Amino acid sequence: NSLFESVELAPRDPILGLNEQYNADTRPGKVNLGVGVYYDDEGRIPLLQAVRKAEEARVEAHAARGYLPIEGIPGYNKGAQTLLLGENSPLVAAGRVLTAQALGGTGALKIGADFLKQILPGSKVAISNPSWENHRALFERAGFTVETYPYYDAATHGLNFDAMLAAFKAMPEETIVVLHACCHNPTGVDPSLEQWARIADVIKARNLVPFLDIAYQGFGEGLEQDAAVVRMFAERDMTMFISSSFSKSFSLYGERVGALTLITSSKEESGRVLSQLKRVIRTNYSNPPTHGGTVVSMVLNTPELFALWVDELAAMRERIRSMRAQLVEKLKAQGVKQNFDFVLQQRGMFSYSGLTSDQVDRLRDEHGVYAVASGRICVAALNSRNIDYVAQSIAKVLA
Ligand code: PLP
Repeated sequence: NSLFESVELAPRDPILGLNEQYNADTRPGKVNLGVGVYYDDEGRIPLLQAVRKAEEARVEAHAARGYLPIEGIPGYNKGAQTLLLGENSPLVAAGRVLTAQALGGTGALKIGADFLKQILPGSKVAISNPSWENHRALFERAGFTVETYPYYDAATHGLNFDAMLAAFKAMPEETIVVLHACCHNPTGVDPSLEQWARIADVIKARNLVPFLDIAYQGFGEGLEQDAAVVRMFAERDMTMFISSSFSKSFSLYGERVGALTLITSSKEESGRVLSQLKRVIRTNYSNPPTHGGTVVSMVLNTPELFALWVDELAAMRERIRSMRAQLVEKLKAQGVKQNFDFVLQQRGMFSYSGLTSDQVDRLRDEHGVYAVASGRICVAALNSRNIDYVAQSIAKVLA
């Protein structure tokens, strides 16, 4: 009898499954819009100049690879805090902010979830409907019951703001609310700053626990602008969790660069909280890896590299914007009657295109254009060579 006899086959990850299908497709004009990665205009994952320079300096230094502290590289954590809260944050000055380097945004969510389960074992977690598909799985695996709050309104291609707010008002105290701080994945639809202010007010008034997930800082309006929501919550003097990912912003997907930041109510509390968070990390993977974290830390803390990175990030953001504008224009030029102007309002790498799952199937089967069944397309996978073909193909399935 094998130990594994009763192990059932787990369902395939839908997006990775799509990639496998794409890779097996032999049509030369095929296009993969199902991914969650930024590609440059040549269709490649870029290696940023700022990263390259930091890596060259690092190789040159021939540094030994000892263990890092459990919570990671101090300069990395400080850099992550500054990106979130700005240069002169009074909360940082008061010792109320603590950060641990984490294995990507996913790792930050995971250590945050494990720690939350320790301090709020009876709370439920609420995620947006829809949300990044790993949010539910990750919090469930940490032992939580996960519910959804209304978010996307298919009829308007926008936000179902009233229903969202009403859901927050009806939640029991200490419900953990996961919010996408900018560039919502998968829809591309973000609340306005006025709406965010009302959301933050309700979350504070109802004594809910905000867990802000920021995986696309710099892809919306800019590095500073995209932190506005984090700062808005911070100004309301709330204790909260923030998971940062640098996978996209540094184009360092495989290095697993992220951070978990907690805002506490006092310096004394921060000391206790960090000691417990370190136990969570210690019993999961002991301490984070050196390379990606060192590179990000060098870029964040070297003014010349930082300036270069800011420019490169801006170029990625602008290219995505230009692809949104061109897609809308080219669909019109193809004679598509539906109004796609909402694509211009969406932010970040993704767009809920409004295509139905049948239309997505036809796009793939008849044209070799791959999108997620929900209609999510990665705008960052469009480029000057494939956009005409994509627009033509979409026009055909809409005709
Ligand atoms: N959170 C959201 C909303 C995401 O879209 C992603 C990545 O797609 C992550 C977290 C995880 O990021 P990472 O790849 O750094 O683990």
